[in-house]
Amino acid sequence: MSSFESLGIRAEILRALTDLGFEKPTPVQEKTIPLLLTGEGDMVALAQTGTGKTAAFGIPMLERIDTSQKTIQALVLAPTRELCVQISRDFEHFAKHLTGIKVVSVYGGANIRDQIRGIQRGANVVVATPGRLIDLLERGAIDLGHVHTAILDEADEMLNMGFQEDLTSILDRTPKEKRTWLFSATMSREVRRIAKNYMREAEEVSMGEGNKANESIQHQYAVVMARDRYLALKRFVDADPNLFAIVFCRTKQDTQELAESLTKDGYNADAIHGDLSQQQRDRVMERYRSKSLQMLVATDVAARGIDVSNVSHVIHFDLPGEVESYTHRSGRTGRAGKTGISLSIIGVRDVFKVRNLERQLKVHFSYVKVPDGAEICERQLLTMIGKIKSVKVDEDAISRYMDAVELDLADLTREDLIKRVVSLEFNRFLKQYKDARDLNVDMASKDRNPRAGGQAREPREKSGFGRSSDGPMRSMFINIGTKDGFDKGKMLGYLCGITGLTGQNFGRILLKDMYSFIDIDSEHFDEAMGHFKNANYKGRKVRVDEGGGAATGARDFKADKKKFNKARYAGVA
Ligand code: AMP
Repeated sequence: MSSFESLGIRAEILRALTDLGFEKPTPVQEKTIPLLLTGEGDMVALAQTGTGKTAAFGIPMLERIDTSQKTIQALVLAPTRELCVQISRDFEHFAKHLTGIKVVSVYGGANIRDQIRGIQRGANVVVATPGRLIDLLERGAIDLGHVHTAILDEADEMLNMGFQEDLTSILDRTPKEKRTWLFSATMSREVRRIAKNYMREAEEVSMGEGNKANESIQHQYAVVMARDRYLALKRFVDADPNLFAIVFCRTKQDTQELAESLTKDGYNADAIHGDLSQQQRDRVMERYRSKSLQMLVATDVAARGIDVSNVSHVIHFDLPGEVESYTHRSGRTGRAGKTGISLSIIGVRDVFKVRNLERQLKVHFSYVKVPDGAEICERQLLTMIGKIKSVKVDEDAISRYMDAVELDLADLTREDLIKRVVSLEFNRFLKQYKDARDLNVDMASKDRNPRAGGQAREPREKSGFGRSSDGPMRSMFINIGTKDGFDKGKMLGYLCGITGLTGQNFGRILLKDMYSFIDIDSEHFDEAMGHFKNANYKGRKVRVDEGGGAATGARDFKADKKKFNKARYAGVA
């Protein structure tokens, strides 16, 4: 492997890299830096997040800036605010010993006038999200006429997020003879189209196969009943006291509710999603970065561009819809030479999705079991002992209390004392996991009989009716409830009668006076809804709707819906 010196980087930047503790180039830097420093053409590089790509384009870009000119010479486009901030911060680090480099980042959700002032003060490098840049262009607040280097970072993400039009209109407003460098984790059709239309004979640099995931990441999956995913998540967390994770959900609401459930259960977790204000997002990220939070629960969009070191686990509480999203999610761990785990906690019906990911990404997913109570207690105990052994005792400070403490504890034997100290923290786990059931689904018997439980049925929460479905659920609102004489058993009978489905297809039922919510497995949801088209109950028209919606004006409807969704995560191990 070569050194940074041998790549032809100038001394001031080499010094900055030494300051940062970068000892040798990463593979993407080794391949792209010489090419970008010496060549004149465009480049398309396939590189995941965490591979050192910011330096790969940042260093050669900085080398090309003429600091005597107070014009914007380099433009970097990135999909999110977080990524923009991170890129400019990295540039500032690389340019620490260069004089006259001024980097300005512009993105939505922040004061545009401050950003305009930043540009007017003589920016020569601008890092921007496409939307905000368009806004600035439309106000005539930015001149891209002197840009000689345009960089598209995470191009696939920008296209996924619908920035295609913005990208093309931005690139149209930059000089034709500029150099364009495109970095993308995946080579989608849309990325190819941009490369074809906006780049000239671009050199392609690949770090391996196109959609291949980062090799420093171990891909694992655990299979449980879909409704047990929350319990399984808690077990994985409890079994690994050093876990520092990003947990992915598919929707903002699920993200928020999962974080709330975790917090309620005593975990340090918080959510980040698009409904939060920029300030709230910053606060959450600050707490996560400083490790006051053990878990960041995130949507795909909100997590883009997050660069936090030492993330030990990326946990897929919901599998993503797209292969590319899986690559982006798991790229949040295993960064900068570290290893990480990308763990999918899936319901039985999602096993095929893992197989698809394996095929498309050409990576192996190892099956792991959800830890049982004994394993969790043992790991917690060992961690506790480790802490006792490694804790630094401040002899001076404690000595004045020691006589009193010894006197107080004089009656306890050494053994008693050890037991008590350990029990202080350990009791919680013992209590929680005493008689904990096995959450793993026995996949072998599942394969033989996919509709069978595959293991001895576990004691369920008292839902009052037969076993519910294992797969993903959607919730149905219906305008009948206890006032109409329903209890759960009657409701289930009524539902089965109308829809022709069996008890297996229904999940939780929440009955209110005038209306109810019912979980129906996703596979049969639309079919079931269709059966209520002309339904009447005791002369009253029966109305159904998915989840919330506009079906009712009941005041506590929203709160009930929230409660209902929360109940999905409820339960004890
Ligand atoms: P990036 O892919 O640019 O987001 O970089 C991922 C992480 O790797 C960042 O935290 C960088 O600071 C770090 N990094 C980049 N290049 C190197 C290097 N040559 N040696 C050590 N760490 C690096």
